[in-house]
Amino acid sequence: MRTNEYTIITCPQIITMDDALPVANAVCISGGRIHAVGSEEEMQAFAPQGSRQELHLEKGVLVPGFIDSHSHLSMFAQCCNQFFCDISYGTIAKLLAAFRAFAEKHSGDEWVIGYCYDDTGMKDNRHLTRHDLDSVCADRPVFVCHITSHMGYGNTLALKKLGITLDLTVEGGEIVLGTDGQPEGLIKENVYFQAFQKLPTSPDDQLPRLLEQAIAVYNSQGFTMFQEGAIGLAKGAHALMRAFNKLAREGRMNARGYLHFLPEVMDEMLEMGIWSMPVTDYLYYGGLKSFADGSIQSLTAVLGSPYSCQEGFCGNLVRTPEQIAQLIDRYHSQGVPVAFHANGDAAIEFVVQGFEKTLKGKSNPVKGDMIIHVQMASDDQLARLKACGVTPTFFVRHVNVWGERHANIFIGEERASRLDPCGSCVRIGLPFAHHVDSQVQPVNAIKSIHTAVNRTTTAGRVLGPDQKVSALDALKAYTVNAAKCTGSNAVGMIAPGRYADFTLLSDDPLAIAPEAIETIQVLKTISGGRIVYER
Ligand SMILES: [Zn+2]
Repeated sequence: MRTNEYTIITCPQIITMDDALPVANAVCISGGRIHAVGSEEEMQAFAPQGSRQELHLEKGVLVPGFIDSHSHLSMFAQCCNQFFCDISYGTIAKLLAAFRAFAEKHSGDEWVIGYCYDDTGMKDNRHLTRHDLDSVCADRPVFVCHITSHMGYGNTLALKKLGITLDLTVEGGEIVLGTDGQPEGLIKENVYFQAFQKLPTSPDDQLPRLLEQAIAVYNSQGFTMFQEGAIGLAKGAHALMRAFNKLAREGRMNARGYLHFLPEVMDEMLEMGIWSMPVTDYLYYGGLKSFADGSIQSLTAVLGSPYSCQEGFCGNLVRTPEQIAQLIDRYHSQGVPVAFHANGDAAIEFVVQGFEKTLKGKSNPVKGDMIIHVQMASDDQLARLKACGVTPTFFVRHVNVWGERHANIFIGEERASRLDPCGSCVRIGLPFAHHVDSQVQPVNAIKSIHTAVNRTTTAGRVLGPDQKVSALDALKAYTVNAAKCTGSNAVGMIAPGRYADFTLLSDDPLAIAPEAIETIQVLKTISGGRIVYER
């Protein structure tokens, strides 16, 4: 398909997400954008024969290209050189044996790095220790990131190299000690983030290719836009910016990228006056990303009442309420959208208060404000987010993957059953988005949509039936509503003027039986009128 002339795409069914014309059979595109939507005859009148190409999709349902509103594409891209601590190993002993084999195979690297360790998913049901990791390799530094990306583990040498000693104190972070009074290997939140910054990343010259490969995985799951959240988390922010810019300039991005930045990087960009500079149609400099707390399954989410598994403990904020409010105000006043990570109800409360303080009852002039994860938001907090014009984006796969563990271990049945309260959002008319949060979970929109509609756990039961949503609402969360998290009005809908970004699904998610949604396949992904994935 060339993009410099009219192309008519027909499909048995097109779901547009545009209330003005919810379903159609044909769309006319040109120059990477949508010109008209309607019936095949209408499009033919619009682009007469001789001036048009045609693409007839014989089967399937065409929907707007999926937009992921939060994940870590650059980390996902670099995981290929790391060991995946898959829970399917079952036991720590089996996992360590595989990890040892991996380390031997990668004997040329100094560091041995693993990712996605999930303690409560293992039969041993415990964290790794430095002794475990010393058994993988004692003469090379070994580091493992927890699945939440909010904590990690080092072997003895890694702890030494990362400066994790008894004298180290970091505000909003924790070094867990063993019975011998020495660091046991586990580090949390700000200690972890500081250590993470020191871990080696892929060589600069490999980055563009790795990012391209990661984008291809997103394309294969129907994504035509992703968020990188955030640049500055790992070391090498400048190299990453160069890589993204190179791909965009050379027309090598097959999905639109919207980059979030940690304060240090955002400050540099603001100082140079290059933030908000339009790079290309495929690269957007997005908002500020910051954290209010951690995650429930690392016991670092900040709750209003204690965790079920630890008496009297509610978690610790990684920033004070004053710091949260100041950050929001400081960037918002410069027109920068703010994306705050908050999981626990108490952390969410401080973020909501921060937005309320900044806006002082005025309507929000900044597009693209969002609150990431928002797992334990109350109905009252959601109503106040709506009043602030802030979009919640839910990591709804939690209900399936960790729902049982949240109910049985961390927060109890009652609080677990209203995790990721999408149903509440629908009831109060608050548009919400979904995200895949890769590398935490595989890149997969269909599984999120399935979870949002069914809310079944790994035990096969429904957790919080009143928070289920319709397939239409779940689809909106990856299209028209996710577009709100980008501040762009050119994505998320099949409507004139928008980008020609489409996903062809094997079945109609709105018509298929809810329990069969997960069987839907992505057949094709089209970005700016170009086919970037075909099954
Ligand atoms: Zn994340």
